[in-house]
Order: sequence, then structure tokens, then C-alpha cells
Amino acid sequence: MFLKRIDVTGFKSFADHTEIAFSPGITAVVGPNGSGKSNIADAIRWVLGEQSARTLRGAKMEDVIFAGTETRRAINFCEVSLTLDNSDQHLGVVFDEVTVTRRMYRSGESEYMINKQACRLKDIAELFMDSGMGRESYSIIGQGKIDEMLSTRAEDRRGAFEDAAGIVKFKFRKKEAERR
Ligand code: ATP
Ligand code: MG
Repeated sequence: MFLKRIDVTGFKSFADHTEIAFSPGITAVVGPNGSGKSNIADAIRWVLGEQSARTLRGAKMEDVIFAGTETRRAINFCEVSLTLDNSDQHLGVVFDEVTVTRRMYRSGESEYMINKQACRLKDIAELFMDSGMGRESYSIIGQGKIDEMLSTRAEDRRGAFEDAAGIVKFKFRKKEAERR
């Protein structure tokens, strides 16, 4: 599995539809201060279901929508799609390519999609369980994340190991079954 493409529209500094393509291997994003490098990482966190505006470096969730500049009006919604090559079926679904999408309007409601089919945030979370790529996972190591991992409670730290071991999905389903 690898990240193939990110499509961003109206998200933070990306007012127009922008397509960022990745190849297998290492990609480095370089650019001047304030040019939008970290906004790309924010877009990835956001489409994976991030609910904390602070984690996305904003005060409220609406701050992820392009707020306008001196020469350009603000936009009313934003959308991010993340496309993964899944030809090795790492995600446990049969599609060779998986696209997850999140769209949000200023009113605050988010819509989620998997391969253009409307779904719940829960479905996205479940899709990425045990893949190492979920919202709470270790695929995105932000500033301070290493310190956080070292200082956190043992039970919380255990989550990362459970994801790597591939048992989160089963724990989740067991809990769901017990609730019924
Ligand atoms: P650095 O090298 O300093 O880390 P960077 O390339 O990571 O810079 P980002 O933090 O990704 O830069 O981008 C910051 C820019 O994004 C700022 O110019 C800020 O004004 C712009 N920005 C953030 N949110 C919005 C928004 N909602 N609407 C418009 N522009 C935004
Ligand atoms: Mg940055």
C-alpha cells in the first residue's frame, strides 16, 4: 500500500483544486516558510477524520476552510481526497485503489466517502484499523509525538503496538458485539 495522490480543494491555503501526486519511495516536500507544506500534512489528518481543530493548528474547525486573501474571496466549503494504491490488498478490501474523501461546509457538518460512496466516519476509522494509517496511528509523526509516546500512560502506548500487531479491528468488533 502506498499514498498515490491527495486532492485538495478549498482546504487552508489551497483555494483551487490542487492535485499532489506521490510515487513509491521517499518524497520530500520543500518550499519557503508559509507556502503550505504543513497544510498538506493537516489535510491528511483531516481526511482521516481528525476532530480536533487544535491538532490542525486552528481555533475552530471552520479554520480549515480557505478564509480568503486580500485579492480573493473566502470559500464556503472544502474537500480533501486521499487515494491509496491498495493493489497488495493491505487494507483488507478488494479494490486496487481506495479513495477516502471528506467534505465540510461552513455550517460544520462533515461528509465522508469511500470510493465516492457516502459513508460514516466510523467506516473510515474501521477501514484504516490495523493498517498503521488511521487518525490515531503512527503513520503521521508530528512535532512532539515522540515525546508524547514516551511520556504517555502504558495503556495508551499499547494502542500503537496493537495497531501494528493487527488486532485493533477484532477488539473493536468484539466491543461492538457486546454492546448489542
Ligand atoms: P513553515 O516552513 O514555516 O513550516 P509551511 O510551508 O509549513 O511553513 P503552512 O503552515 O503549511 O506553511 O502554511 C501556512 C499558510 O497557510 C499561511 O500563509 C496561512 O495564512 C495559510 N492558511 C492557513 N489556513 C488558512 C485558511 N483557512 N485560509 C487561507 N490561508 C490559510
Ligand atoms: Mg510547516
